[in-house]
Amino acid sequence: QPVIELVGMSKWYGNFQVLKDIDLTVYEGERIVVCGPSGSGKSTMIRCINQLEFHQEGDVIIHGKAYGKDEKQNDLIRRDIGMVFQSFNLFPHLSVLENCTMAQIWVKETPKAEAEAVAMHFLERVRIPEQAHKYPLQLSGGQQQRVAIARALCMNPKIMLFDEPTSALDPEMINEVLEAMIELAQSGMTMIVVTHEMNFARKVADRVIFMDQGEIVEQAPPHAFFDNP
Ligand code: ADP
Ligand code: ADP
Repeated sequence: QPVIELVGMSKWYGNFQVLKDIDLTVYEGERIVVCGPSGSGKSTMIRCINQLEFHQEGDVIIHGKAYGKDEKQNDLIRRDIGMVFQSFNLFPHLSVLENCTMAQIWVKETPKAEAEAVAMHFLERVRIPEQAHKYPLQLSGGQQQRVAIARALCMNPKIMLFDEPTSALDPEMINEVLEAMIELAQSGMTMIVVTHEMNFARKVADRVIFMDQGEIVEQAPPHAFFDNP
């Protein structure tokens, strides 16, 4: 069952073609790791999947529905997709709990008490329930990134996108974030992860995609990349 289909997707920034005729099908529960040199279009490709960036040619199809001109429909499609960024992107003036409840309350109209219960559930899953009433800047980078993961999960996404989630972290905090991601992977979430963490790829990925200059140049299970003599 395809969950994400990119079909002949191209994108330009001015005259510069950042994505070149990308074809990619991701199936339910698949864990994809995207790697490749800086500037190869990895971030742009996954941002097109939730339409933070817009492609100009081809189709982006989520659960069988293509993004198009109907913005209401696009919003509904997008709702199935959670995203975690390199730089956490938490709201600094909201507590951890409020960061996790805001979209539930304002987008899904979930009652506040229920939204808080959902938030606490996911904060427990990423092992920081005791931080619920702190503010993001009182937390370590690793804790902030786990809040960002919990916040995304609160919206009950069917797909999670991660854009270099550990690249901004001090080395000693990388593992606590990767562990939260590994647990999520084990729960069956469909995931696309842009990362340079090759141990994570080896352990978790069903498929590793290698991009270069706006193209997918290679895709294979991790052992095909890493077990070569
Ligand atoms: P990666 O994630 O692989 O490092 P990106 O998708 O971030 O690559 O960027 C791909 C290329 O597109 C880079 O050359 C980058 O400078 C360029 N780029 C990214 N965003 C923009 C933008 N808003 N305007 C112009 N060029 C951009
Ligand atoms: P990341 O590695 O987190 O994707 P980047 O440094 O590639 O971050 O980009 C940061 C922001 O700057 C993004 O919003 C991207 O779209 C924009 N950007 C990147 N390259 C260019 C560029 N050449 N021209 C204009 N904007 C760019």
